[in-house]
Amino acid sequence: MILGSGPAGYTAGIYAARANLKPVLITGFKRGGIPGGQLMTTTFVENFPGFPTGVKGPELMDLMKSQAIRWGTELVEEDAEEIDLSKRPFQIKTTETALKTHALIIATGAKANRLNLPNEKRLWSNGISACAICDGATPQFQNEELAVVGGGDSACEEAIYLTKFGSHVHLLVRSNQLRASASMTDRVFANPLITIHWKTSVIDVEGEQWLESIRIHNADQHSQSSIPIKGLFYAIGHTPNTELFSNQLELNRKGYLFTAPGRPETSLEGVFGAGDVIDSEWKQGITAASSGCKAALAAERWLSKNELSTLIKRTEVEPQQPTKAINHETSTKENFAQDAIWQKGSYALRKLYHSSNKPLVVIYTSPGCGPCHVLKPQLKRVLKEFKGKVQGVEIDIEKDQEIAKQANINGTPTVHLFREKALLKEWKGVKQRSEFKDAIINTLKGSQ
Ligand SMILES: Cc1cc2nc3c(=O)[nH]c(=O)nc-3n(C[C@H](O)[C@H](O)[C@H](O)COP(=O)(O)OP(=O)(O)OC[C@H]3O[C@@H](n4cnc5c(N)ncnc54)[C@H](O)[C@@H]3O)c2cc1C
Repeated sequence: MILGSGPAGYTAGIYAARANLKPVLITGFKRGGIPGGQLMTTTFVENFPGFPTGVKGPELMDLMKSQAIRWGTELVEEDAEEIDLSKRPFQIKTTETALKTHALIIATGAKANRLNLPNEKRLWSNGISACAICDGATPQFQNEELAVVGGGDSACEEAIYLTKFGSHVHLLVRSNQLRASASMTDRVFANPLITIHWKTSVIDVEGEQWLESIRIHNADQHSQSSIPIKGLFYAIGHTPNTELFSNQLELNRKGYLFTAPGRPETSLEGVFGAGDVIDSEWKQGITAASSGCKAALAAERWLSKNELSTLIKRTEVEPQQPTKAINHETSTKENFAQDAIWQKGSYALRKLYHSSNKPLVVIYTSPGCGPCHVLKPQLKRVLKEFKGKVQGVEIDIEKDQEIAKQANINGTPTVHLFREKALLKEWKGVKQRSEFKDAIINTLKGSQ
């Protein structure tokens, strides 16, 4: 069994499946990141070998996922909630099921840190975000001054990305240098829309309903001041997702799973670690993938040495070709279909909003937003189950700024459930399918 669906988890899945071990991979859902892991929150990955012109993070993770599935990895799209490593086989409880395994690969990665400022919670999602790629295109940030906290690759990438939307971007760096790669640093220095504030930390955020300004401290001048901004984006590193194992496996000083350098074995036989959760130093897609490979090979050897492996027999030597996701076209006057289960764009939204008496689910997305990419197929699956009694429309807020403004969207993904023009429910971020299902069932019941 493999925990986590980042590059480490999917690579472990590919190797274990090709060894005919039929691995089960628990993708994770919300607890420690989203299915696909951290690369779902980035635009272009330009350093993963095999993609000379770069590849979008979510696209790369889709490719890894489909390769793992093609070779026979079984996915459970849930979070592991409890793990008991005190008896064998090990026991794992997910949100909905209980599973047992002789060998476990932990590839739970890391999750984004927050600053925990006094007023942060109140203004979270109302001007403060940990994902510029997901939220940068929201109308409230258009032509406004924005800020990014951090000095690494993510902070630089986010600052550059945000210059597409904001009038100016302040990059707040605690030290007097950037920790980003040389090429990323060059891009930041060359961008006239970015101002770097060295030796600067954020003390608090200010604003009533929406972020209006940040209070900052400059360590050189020992002074405090405010910068009026409408958006603050965190890019201040990650904490390893080890809380489920903290009393069961040895962790290092920084809270990462302890393994010997270059090895996947943890302090307990039969448990292996892979990716960022064991790596406080390199933390890259390729290093995570490489350690996922090592963990799967080590698990295979360990299982067979202990005579615990059950190998499946393939009925066909070659696996099937992976299925491709259907990309819906934007609806126009010509191709709009009154009864279609899923459509795209403002034309379909206006038509259905005004003329349909069925419940209408609207998902607001932005290009490159990993969580949107995760949620969209989940929603499509839910709507399919209702066999046409409910309809869905996707709105790309970058293309349909006016609609996003009218709907008061301040981050993606956001989902609205309407019935006869009335907004019945709003969801922000990735949610379990059951939440949407229950709300739709209630709406349908209410109208009987
Ligand atoms: C903004 C950004 C940009 C980046 N850009 C690059 C880049 O250009 N190139 C590069 O090489 N690297 C890049 N990185 C680093 C790279 O994303 C990571 O090193 C890599 O994703 C680590 O892979 P992983 O598989 O170890 O973990 P992650 O990608 O963190 O995946 C962890 C997985 O574990 C799951 N999980 C967590 N807890 C549980 C649980 N309880 N139960 C089940 N599942 C769980 C999560 O849902 C997730 O699927 C970037 C990172 C960020 C944040």
